[in-house]
Amino acid sequence: MTDEQLRLTDDVLAMAEQIVRAGPICDECLGRAYAKLGHGLSNAERGSALRTMLTISGTEGKLGTCWVCGGAFKHIDKLAKRASAMSDGVEFESYLFGVKPSARIIQGEKLFVERYPTDTYEPLKHAFNREIGKAFEAHVGHGTVDFERPHLSFVIDLSSDRIDLKVRSLYIYGRYQKLLRGIPQTRWPCRKCKGRGCAACNYTGKQYPESVEELIAAPFLAAARSDEAYLHGAGREDIDARMLGNGRPFVLELVSPHMRSLDLVFLREQVNISAKGKVEVNDLRFTSRDTVALVKETHAEKTYRVRVSLASPVEEGKLLAAVSSLIGQVDQRTPRRVAHRRADLVRVRRLIDARAMIISEQEVELTLRGEGGLYIKELVSGDEGRTVPSLSGVLGVPALVTELDVIDVSASAFPASV
Ligand SMILES: [Zn+2]
Ligand SMILES: [Zn+2]
Repeated sequence: MTDEQLRLTDDVLAMAEQIVRAGPICDECLGRAYAKLGHGLSNAERGSALRTMLTISGTEGKLGTCWVCGGAFKHIDKLAKRASAMSDGVEFESYLFGVKPSARIIQGEKLFVERYPTDTYEPLKHAFNREIGKAFEAHVGHGTVDFERPHLSFVIDLSSDRIDLKVRSLYIYGRYQKLLRGIPQTRWPCRKCKGRGCAACNYTGKQYPESVEELIAAPFLAAARSDEAYLHGAGREDIDARMLGNGRPFVLELVSPHMRSLDLVFLREQVNISAKGKVEVNDLRFTSRDTVALVKETHAEKTYRVRVSLASPVEEGKLLAAVSSLIGQVDQRTPRRVAHRRADLVRVRRLIDARAMIISEQEVELTLRGEGGLYIKELVSGDEGRTVPSLSGVLGVPALVTELDVIDVSASAFPASV
């Protein structure tokens, strides 16, 4: 031992002697005061070693419940056992513990640091969370701590002796096609009863018996043994519109899943069989919560196929010219049909491409490619002058969308690595 280390040991022992004389203290708390001394030792081992040295030199510690932590460290194994029982049947790889000390413990620790300042001190929360993690791992036999995205998050409240467990949602990216009109993207509460259940909705609480969300989620909920699922879509098509082509990107969130290692190939098949003729999913892969924001915020370009009915016959050349003239900037004041849920303002969007196929004198099929957020029905009807330009406005003849399909959602907006 060098002189410097020896002097340090003297200092440490002198302070440790004061600490153990002051009142009953556990090895964990005694050791925490010198957490950076002695490689490879736990705080409890460090505390115990100091105590032994003090005993040899004639200083006996006081018996009783630790005045700093109130005996919290003594309960770690019991708490870890309870946490382990709570995680029974839940598949996980990573975990994180967070402890909420009682007011009494916070007070005790504050006093301890003030009275016995050392520059090697480890805060109680830090030490407690690590030690309970070690004990938890020993009980369950696996798992690693993850500070960023743990599968299991335990919060231990020392004043109420409560343990809360939150299981991280599981996120699955994919693309869906909606092959049938009349299905909303997500569950839609009954307008009459707001979801409580009434005669009008046959006590389902729903405006529509099924949704893309429910059709996709059903096999996943069963496989993951999760109670709740949310479909986060990259925009949404109207209920009466189909979603064809390469499909619309989405993230399915499974809340509190018991199983995480799902067989996506099998589940894709399950969805596509059980929702046959209505919904089909593709490109399924596991992703993270970040993709929800990416999918929701990206305004991908979309291509639509639209059947339009004209109030009176229009000459072919005039019609084709009118359709081409729509390409470019479109000013859209919030459509009347969505005014109840969207702010009333004028949005500037672009129509990128427009083609027309004449079906009869008063019927035409349009293929329109537009920026995300462009309202297609209003681009055709004009929405009483709220959308400029519009097919109706340019022709001077009322025009109405009778059928609408989304046939492409730009894939380039969604990198393969989500
Ligand atoms: Zn203690
Ligand atoms: Zn109802």
